[in-house]
Amino acid sequence: MTALRCLPGVGPKSAQRMAFHLLEKDRDGARALAAALEDALTAIGLCAHCRMLAEQDVCPICADKTRDGSRLCIVETPADVIAVEDSAAYRGLYFVLMGRLSPLDGIGPEELGVGLFKDRLVGGDISEIILATSATVEGEATAAYLGRLAAEQDVVATRIAHGVPMGGELEYVDSSTLSLAISARTKLPAD
Ligand code: ZN
Repeated sequence: MTALRCLPGVGPKSAQRMAFHLLEKDRDGARALAAALEDALTAIGLCAHCRMLAEQDVCPICADKTRDGSRLCIVETPADVIAVEDSAAYRGLYFVLMGRLSPLDGIGPEELGVGLFKDRLVGGDISEIILATSATVEGEATAAYLGRLAAEQDVVATRIAHGVPMGGELEYVDSSTLSLAISARTKLPAD
C-alpha cells in the first residue's frame, strides 16, 4: 500500500483507496498493472544518444534520418520532448537532462548526463543548441551552464523565450505557445 505513495500527488488516503480498489474489486487489473510495470522496467531504458526513454538502444527520433541533425533541443524530461514534438515547430534532435541543476538536491552535471552532452557537441554535427529548460531558477541556471559549454565548442546556444510563464514547466505549456517560444528563441551571450 505504501508503495503507491511513490507516485506524484498520491498521499496516504489516495494510496489506501487505490490499494483497496485493486485488492477488493479488480484483482485482474492489479495483476495486469504489476505485469505492465515489470515489462516496462525491463524493456525501457535510455537512448544512447539523447537519454530519451526508449525500447531500443537508439530512440526513434535519433534514428530518424530525415530530422535536422544540426540542431539539438535541450529539455528536462521525456514529457518535454513529447510537448515540443506536439508543437510541430521543431524537426531537430533532442537531449534529455532528466532533471535540472539543483545542488541542494544533489543534482549536478553528472546526473544530467553532461559528459554525453559534451560528446555530442564535440562530434561536430551540431551547430545550434536550443535551451528549452523550464523558466525556473534552476532551469535558467542549467541553461546558462550548458550555454557556456556550447560556447567553448563554438556552438550557438539559443534560449526559448516567448510565452513560457515564469516558473513554467514546458510540459504544461500549450503547443501553440510552445511553438512560438521555439521560433522566437534568442541567442545566448557567449561569455
Ligand atoms: Zn534518442
